[in-house]
Amino acid sequence: MAGIYIHIPFCRQACYYCDFYFTTQLRHRPELVKALCKELVLQKNYLEGLPIHTIYFGGGTPSVLTRQELKALFETIKACFPVVNNPEITLEANPDDLNEKKLFEMRSQGINRLSIGVQSFHGPTLKYLNRSHNEQQALNSLFEARKQGFQNINLDLIYGIPGHDHIHWRNDLEKTMAFKPSHLSAYCLTIENRTVFGNWYQKGKLIPVDDDFSVRQLEMLQEISGRYGYEQYEISNFALPKYQSQHNSNYWMQVPYLGIGPGAHSYNGKIRQFNVRNLAKYLGFLEIDRIPCQIEVLQRKDHINEYIMNSLRTKSGCNLKKLKEEYDFDLINACHPQLDKFKKLSLITYSQQLLRLTDKGKLLADTITSEFFQS
Ligand code: SF4
Repeated sequence: MAGIYIHIPFCRQACYYCDFYFTTQLRHRPELVKALCKELVLQKNYLEGLPIHTIYFGGGTPSVLTRQELKALFETIKACFPVVNNPEITLEANPDDLNEKKLFEMRSQGINRLSIGVQSFHGPTLKYLNRSHNEQQALNSLFEARKQGFQNINLDLIYGIPGHDHIHWRNDLEKTMAFKPSHLSAYCLTIENRTVFGNWYQKGKLIPVDDDFSVRQLEMLQEISGRYGYEQYEISNFALPKYQSQHNSNYWMQVPYLGIGPGAHSYNGKIRQFNVRNLAKYLGFLEIDRIPCQIEVLQRKDHINEYIMNSLRTKSGCNLKKLKEEYDFDLINACHPQLDKFKKLSLITYSQQLLRLTDKGKLLADTITSEFFQS
């Protein structure tokens, strides 16, 4: 089993919080699609013939692609890789790109899962984030997507936004539940250095919310989504029964995947490959049939660290027996002081078999997991 990720780095405008790799130079779209097809051909042996169960168009904003561009990518994927019948095919979309015609085209290309970047239903908050859509466009896109037959819809939300108080957040959650998407991804806003918000923060123009504020909003999310039948199967991901994202679940289970496009990365169980985060360089290298990437050969410690990092984010937690059997690593022996410290702070629970984050611990997942990392 394996997956393919295609990175479409174009956005209509820059959201103030975003540090993904993107560019607003949409005019380069045709060249990019040509280069992506070429990279698919050049990388066709990377997954060593494993069947492709999931395909994911991420970004950026893949919903800017035309029907012909999507068609070219699908044809190349099918020509180069053994794709199973009825794979999960996800496309990330911004609400302002979704209309009846576009949604129909996406469905007829075989896309069966949409991930819609709503982020909030509160107009002033969308403006504050510099999103390219408004509240009405968010609502319209959801209802139009369902009308066009999409059953499997993920809705992205952000919480922990300065000025977006608990009443606004509750309102976002209630509007979400009224639509009842099959899947919900909700991320706590982080202020990253190379963003407009990072710049405002350094100048004292933005004051991030404190941990208690974010914890309360996470609790509201857990409480309300739980009441509507969603399961929190990963820190930021909630699904109705049978609607967990297969593609993302495979990342967390170390299933191999091939990432195509500028800024994409790949993993085949032995190496990780990181494509250059620069459109001009990416296009230039593909022009001469070369893939501009860095390769990291994974060592035992990398496998251990990746397993700890990914598994702790999931509902199943970190299987300590698996760590011993597969990587000869005894986490309880190696990290006893850290385990004691986090347990006293009610951030984790653990036994001989299993280590898990508590709800409070989930908000500090990165800090906690990094203390278990091996060097
Ligand atoms: S649309 Fe998505 S990728 Fe593009 S700037 Fe906004 S958050 Fe980033």
